[in-house]
Amino acid sequence: MSITFIPSNVGNYQKGRTSSIKYIVIHYTANKGDTAANNCKYFQSGGRAASAHYFIDKKEVCQSVADNDTAWSVGGTYGGTVITNSNSLSIELCDFQTENLDVLKVAIPFIQSKMAEYKVPLERVVRHWDVGSKANGGKVQKQCPLPYVGVSNHKWEGFKNLLVNSSFDLNKEEKEEDEMIIYESIEQVPEWGRYVAELDIRKGYLSFPIEYSLLRARIANYRQLRDLGLVDKETLEPILH
Ligand SMILES: [Zn+2]
Repeated sequence: MSITFIPSNVGNYQKGRTSSIKYIVIHYTANKGDTAANNCKYFQSGGRAASAHYFIDKKEVCQSVADNDTAWSVGGTYGGTVITNSNSLSIELCDFQTENLDVLKVAIPFIQSKMAEYKVPLERVVRHWDVGSKANGGKVQKQCPLPYVGVSNHKWEGFKNLLVNSSFDLNKEEKEEDEMIIYESIEQVPEWGRYVAELDIRKGYLSFPIEYSLLRARIANYRQLRDLGLVDKETLEPILH
């Protein structure tokens, strides 16, 4: 994966780090139709008193601040806060006012590569929303990234499932709309999701109406269990490929 480096204005970040990277924080730009390169150019062209390491759109990853430097993304160090600018890597999703699967196709493999590079486990991939939460000592509950905020957000759970499931190839799946899709009956469920939908309905785990992102999360979940050897092969044979 090639990454375009469009360095931020030096007034927007702190040179160096006082801690190694322990967390990856996911943000969104809050814009519609914006690109990674244009965001980087914005931060290059002047003092913005804020920054992030990476911007991702549906075409590419652009870097604004080097990994070894401290971006100003998560609001500094609050009392009791464990996630800070110093110990985190901040990634901005562009054009993400609603969950944008085209952006995820680029973002998921990239974030996986950063998890591997800095040995960041899944539980340390967090939303800006988590960092600002009162539970984490924050003062302001940031609504970022908007499609993923809130307790028990199924879309966020689906996102995290994609991160751990390396066999989940987004390009292989049927391309769907960005908007929330809800299936009202088994006939509406696309081919790729039908087996798991039927299985889960039989087991009582799912019932109609079923949200698209939840179904995808369930599929990713089964594949993960399969990889861990926790589900018998017969049950999962139809979704092994
Ligand atoms: Zn944010």
